[in-house]
Amino acid sequence: MSGTALELLNSVFGYDAFHSHQSAIIDNILARNDTLAIMPTGGGKSICYQIPALIFPGLTLVISPLISLMEDQVHQLTSLGIPAALLNSTLSSADYQNTLGRVHNGNIKLLYMAPETLMLERTQQLLSNINIDCLTIDEAHCISEWGHDFRPEYRQLAEVRRHLPGAVCVALTATATPRVQQDIKNSLQMSDSNEFIASFNRPNLYLEVMEKKKPVAQTLQLIEKYQNQSGIIYCNSRKQVDELSRILADNGCSVAPYHAGLTSEQRKANQSAFIRDDIQIMVATVAFGMGINKSNVRFVLHFDMPQNIESYYQQIGRAGRDGLPANCHFLFSYGDIQKVKFFINQKPDSEQRIANQHLNALIGYAEAEECRRTPLLHYFGETYSQENCQLCDNCLSEKQPLTDVTVAAQKLLSCIYRTGQLFGISYVIDVLRGSKSKRIQQRQHDQIPTYGIGTELTKPQWQQLARKLIQENLVHQDAEYGSLKLTDHARAVLRGAQKIQIRLTQRAEPASKAATDKQSSLDYNHELFNILRACRKVLADQENVPPYIIFSDKTLIEMSARFPQSRYSLLQISGVGQVKLDHYGDAFLHEITSFCDKNQIEEITKPSVRESLPSLRTASRGRHVTVGESFSKHNCLSRLQDEFNLKLPTLLGHLYKYQTEVAHLPVSDAFLRLSRLSPERQTLVLEAINNHGTDRLRPLFDALQEQVPYDELHLLRLHYLVQNRKSYVEKETTIDGNQSTKTDIGTLARSI
Ligand code: ADP
Ligand code: ZN
Repeated sequence: MSGTALELLNSVFGYDAFHSHQSAIIDNILARNDTLAIMPTGGGKSICYQIPALIFPGLTLVISPLISLMEDQVHQLTSLGIPAALLNSTLSSADYQNTLGRVHNGNIKLLYMAPETLMLERTQQLLSNINIDCLTIDEAHCISEWGHDFRPEYRQLAEVRRHLPGAVCVALTATATPRVQQDIKNSLQMSDSNEFIASFNRPNLYLEVMEKKKPVAQTLQLIEKYQNQSGIIYCNSRKQVDELSRILADNGCSVAPYHAGLTSEQRKANQSAFIRDDIQIMVATVAFGMGINKSNVRFVLHFDMPQNIESYYQQIGRAGRDGLPANCHFLFSYGDIQKVKFFINQKPDSEQRIANQHLNALIGYAEAEECRRTPLLHYFGETYSQENCQLCDNCLSEKQPLTDVTVAAQKLLSCIYRTGQLFGISYVIDVLRGSKSKRIQQRQHDQIPTYGIGTELTKPQWQQLARKLIQENLVHQDAEYGSLKLTDHARAVLRGAQKIQIRLTQRAEPASKAATDKQSSLDYNHELFNILRACRKVLADQENVPPYIIFSDKTLIEMSARFPQSRYSLLQISGVGQVKLDHYGDAFLHEITSFCDKNQIEEITKPSVRESLPSLRTASRGRHVTVGESFSKHNCLSRLQDEFNLKLPTLLGHLYKYQTEVAHLPVSDAFLRLSRLSPERQTLVLEAINNHGTDRLRPLFDALQEQVPYDELHLLRLHYLVQNRKSYVEKETTIDGNQSTKTDIGTLARSI
């Protein structure tokens, strides 16, 4: 891995190390090999093309299907100080021209657009005289008709590629099915050697399937433990969404509905409220989720049955993108299967068979007695080799022993036969358990020999047994009506020649507690975390961006665990890069230091990974670091003189070194106040600094006809630096004098 990519990961993104595959992918792109990267949601795909984009001299074009996704990316990049823009037909003419101008001047590193925009004549013209180094195709599965989100415009990208022979092509997707992967490779003519497939296991997701009994009560009970946390509840119908969100609201939950029946304004408003943490829970149909990048979704609850494993995987994938623990609860009922079957039956015949296969795979997942990750990953062609994942209901529950239920199975088969093979599971079980229902009496099924002989199992256990018999192909269930019929294989069991064994479900309320315990055992100060969240929310609202654009929950949690109290320590926190430190550091430091002062909490230092990098070695803890940190904390020069017993020029030297090599000092007038020059002369000096730069004092001394003493120059240079600490983006347009910040990303990217 080239040192430069790692430096950018550290200084711009604020992360210590690459995730698996990221560095190999980046190397491959930098070697200008076309690259296909398949990684699960939250795997960190974006960085794979964003870092090369900073290194390539020319432009990186990013094609993405949804405006909301692109806007989100551009926000994220801008907040990191990376010049990025979105080209889109809804831009005003002025904005469009402005963006064009910036692209032409080489002031944009990443340009996002939808495929439709790319196809436009005027876009093609724009691009024809620009140096494009990389063409990135995000959500590349849209190219495949076999994917869940086929977009015909994506098909034409293969053609566009031919017009950009100099650009390396990067395709990214989180879709795991081999068929779609093959399609992408074929369409874009990529070879196996340039394909990177990460595991689809999401190790931070707790997976649980619960029997759906009283779903509303179960939901209320489940969400109780997610106070102030975000979650999505999926239902199958608009009506169910409306009803459930109303009930939850009545119970004091912070909730909004989302489905295709709402007006587009309502949908937009509800989605935005969710993304901005204004409401905590979204109750939604499958219509919700595409284009949602929110990283701190802590739970996904399937109130109803998803359509198939692929959509289930996609929906639970929206939880825990930040890598922190998140829980996926699935309320499973046999009644719901019938509903899904009803939908399947509405489809053309040709599609029904596949849909039924998909449904059966999902039922298999729900009924699995082994680790849930095994059937889930198996569906995507991956073998999960661990025996116990420690993070699913089956692995955490105590295994029930296998029970011989041959006799019960015989009773069930017999009862199906004696009721004429016309009824569904529920009815047959009612007969077996001796229900007094009218339906049974009217049909005189209370007179048959199997009536009331099945009290040894509970109703759910009978259902479990019935499913087992269907799975083993002893019983066939009619796809349309749900009625049960014996197959030829049933005979062996009825004759006693074949035994049936199952692990009878007895799980009361199983392991979800374990996952919550695990989550709460993350050792951080919850009070401080809430303070920092509130601080983040204020900043996010001011800037009109979602809170996670400012810092992820993961970053706030690390702050709440380590209590960084200087800019230097804050920079060691994962997710804090130089530009974010400049923009938001003071606000967060203020909260942390006042919290720690009040509660007498000391900082817990983090061994700095970034410090060991050659280019950032200057950041090691010299005197200037201690001096700079102390000043950042107290913002008082005389206190500093007392504390370190140093002369003013020496102190100023340390502070200058800290400011330029470690981190920015807080904005204040502390330096100006010590200056003894008249305001007019101060202005003259500042102008000279603006003209000659901040690197050396000698040219300033000369320019000012040796009239201003070095002490003053020291003071005013520091004043100039702290007042003018601007991000790269602002620098482009506002100042050109101050380019001396070491970790400035613009400088870094250009110097490579
Ligand atoms: P994807 O597009 O694959 O769903 P993202 O690119 O949105 O994933 O990344 C998910 C989260 O992980 C983001 O918050 C991102 O900043 C973070 N991330 C990416 N790479 C790293 C890394 N090497 N170290 C720490 N966090 C990372
Ligand atoms: Zn497991």
